[in-house]
Amino acid sequence: MQRTILTIATGNKHKAQEIAAILPPHFEVRTLADHPQVPEVEETGTTFAENAALKACGVSAALPGLVLADDSGLCVDALGGAPGVISARYAGQHGNDAANNAKLLADLAALPADTAPHTARFMCAMCLAEGGHVLAEFVGKVEGCITPTPAGCGGFGYDPLFVPQGYPCTMAELPAEEKNRISHRADALQQFIAYLNRAQ
Ligand code: IMP
Repeated sequence: MQRTILTIATGNKHKAQEIAAILPPHFEVRTLADHPQVPEVEETGTTFAENAALKACGVSAALPGLVLADDSGLCVDALGGAPGVISARYAGQHGNDAANNAKLLADLAALPADTAPHTARFMCAMCLAEGGHVLAEFVGKVEGCITPTPAGCGGFGYDPLFVPQGYPCTMAELPAEEKNRISHRADALQQFIAYLNRAQ
């Protein structure tokens, strides 16, 4: 298969690692770490899809070739969809997973006991862009619920609190290969791969 160079518009190394592991080997994955001259794009959108498009268009305006952005997060039904688009900075400081998880558990503990189990889903909006323009958009998700007892050390973010539907353990307790088979990110990437196959 012909090599496809793909820049992932992210500075989040966990996301980039997962995307590189899920994509077939003919993709040559680059990230913003390979392009330190590219300015950071502000995530001012109110939806995952808007933020993914902002990142993909902003970065692809500054770089040649295909750019894929991932905007993702956790939506908890009993919290009206929070943390949602502010998943990365739910507790205030961007990327502080421990503080975000502690806030989520505190928010859920403050709800009436009969609201548990707390159903939730990870959402992933992906946007593919080239030359500053959107080529295609994809949305992936994985359903589950939140455990009050964090467990596991795999993955990142809210994985220790998220029990995927049909599994006896948290996302963080799954082997990386299994997370990468069932995740919201894998769901969106399968659609991206199918799109590229159709386009070729
Ligand atoms: P973004 O960088 O604005 O897309 O925010 C992503 C945030 O959503 C991360 O910092 C995590 O808090 C959360 N998140 C997204 N994907 C995952 C995942 O696969 N596992 C756990 N948390 C995730």
